[in-house]
Amino acid sequence: MEHKAGFVNILGNPNVGKSTLMNALTGEKLSIITSKAQTTRHRILGIVNGEDFQIIYSDLPGILKPNYKLQEKMMGFIDMALKDADVVIYMVEAGEKKYNETIVNQILATKVPVILIINKIDLSDQPKVEEQMKYWQAIFPGHPVIPLSALRNFNIQKVLEQVIDFLPDSPAYYPKGELTDQPMPFFISEIIREKILLNFKQEIPYSVEIVVDSYKESEKIIKIAAYIFVARESQKMIILGQGGKAIKRIGIDSRKDIEEFVGKQVFLDLTVKVSKDWRNNDRQLKRFGYEI
Ligand code: GDP
Ligand code: MG
Repeated sequence: MEHKAGFVNILGNPNVGKSTLMNALTGEKLSIITSKAQTTRHRILGIVNGEDFQIIYSDLPGILKPNYKLQEKMMGFIDMALKDADVVIYMVEAGEKKYNETIVNQILATKVPVILIINKIDLSDQPKVEEQMKYWQAIFPGHPVIPLSALRNFNIQKVLEQVIDFLPDSPAYYPKGELTDQPMPFFISEIIREKILLNFKQEIPYSVEIVVDSYKESEKIIKIAAYIFVARESQKMIILGQGGKAIKRIGIDSRKDIEEFVGKQVFLDLTVKVSKDWRNNDRQLKRFGYEI
């Protein structure tokens, strides 16, 4: 039997619905979703297996202007994404017309098959969607354009079929039972970060980084210790909250989600630490896992 396999990289601006699409495609909540931009900083792989195919998806950081060191690193992920992709999905949302010409040209120049996806069509109407399809078809000539709603699960199957069609003949890269190649601590830190995103205003979520320090699994319980790094003492006070109220809330919410994810009872110990200016500090960024 012929077998197809390959790497599919999903690119697009923050908030267009990349993580939602990947979750719809993989059928699991692998990458966190919130309504705030820039949630996904790391590269996440979700693997979809069929009898005669294997698709390895990456959900990449949004396409952003590099204006400080952390964002330069994010652009590095995109460069890499284009280099190792068998298929590129470029995602926009209904109504979106702006694009970064340099990045689009870079994508078109790779000769990798590109699928242009217009997401969130549940928020639009037929004539507008048709107009959008024409607009993007002109920018990506010769490449398929698929309108869909990742949230409402509309046209997901079409994406799957198109991706499989584009995949090269290849044996599977990963054992077929595996859902993702990201280690458990990664998902745990993502869950904690999601709770911080949901509980605090703008400047706090973007000033934190979570590091899972230890993960000890016994028969009945998993003991996890994690650090929440912030840039300033004042941010630490906010995250702790009055009498430790805020950190307690984050701990409880995170623990519930982690328990659901790992399917076991969890003991979660969170410590808030000040690590000055981590965004601009190369050594710190490396420690936090941004090294490629
Ligand atoms: P990402 O930053 O590109 O990964 O975007 P997310 O997947 O995190 O989605 C950003 C926001 O858009 C979330 O609030 C999603 O629920 C919402 N969203 C994603 N897909 C759709 C869709 O098809 N329709 C609508 N109405 N909202 C969507
Ligand atoms: Mg995302």
